[in-house]
Amino acid sequence: MAVLPIRTVGDPVLRTPADPVETFDARLERLATDMIDTMYAAPGVGLAAPQVGVGLRIFVFDTQYDADDPTSERRPLVVVNPVLTPGPGVQDGPEGCLSVPGLYFPTPRTLAASVSGVDAAGSPVEYSGEGLLARCFQHEVDHLDGTLYLARLTGDDRRAAQAALRDGPVDPAEAEQAGRELRSLRRSG
Ligand SMILES: [Zn+2]
Repeated sequence: MAVLPIRTVGDPVLRTPADPVETFDARLERLATDMIDTMYAAPGVGLAAPQVGVGLRIFVFDTQYDADDPTSERRPLVVVNPVLTPGPGVQDGPEGCLSVPGLYFPTPRTLAASVSGVDAAGSPVEYSGEGLLARCFQHEVDHLDGTLYLARLTGDDRRAAQAALRDGPVDPAEAEQAGRELRSLRRSG
């Protein structure tokens, strides 16, 4: 088990499109395991390799796990070389990012989405969903293309994000509190 440091906004690796994975070996399996450990430790519902400084097209996710509920079960999934297919509908709920700690802004996304690719062993996988899961797929594939969710913001939300980033890093205690509030918001619907 290894929890890796998470790169934050301003780090060039987050703005660099990641390369397709071509070698499926023990190192890739290890990366996936470490990314899963890092995601749960944060805690977060998804994590893309550039966020731990690795420029490869791989992300992990678990949108069902509830970090605040000790009985909640972990079911982590891995997608390598994902191809995103946006579905119908739109959603505009709050979105956050482990690489932009403590900030959440309403972010337009499609309501449904699916991803296909392979797992860390190279076997084909395909997942689809709506709501938070669809948001997660779009957010993580954006990371692999070198795009932060901040780039998806519009109008006042975009201006608010720019102002917040200018104010400098968010206090860790405040960031944790904001994360807890967002998670409880998601549980209530
Ligand atoms: Zn993110």
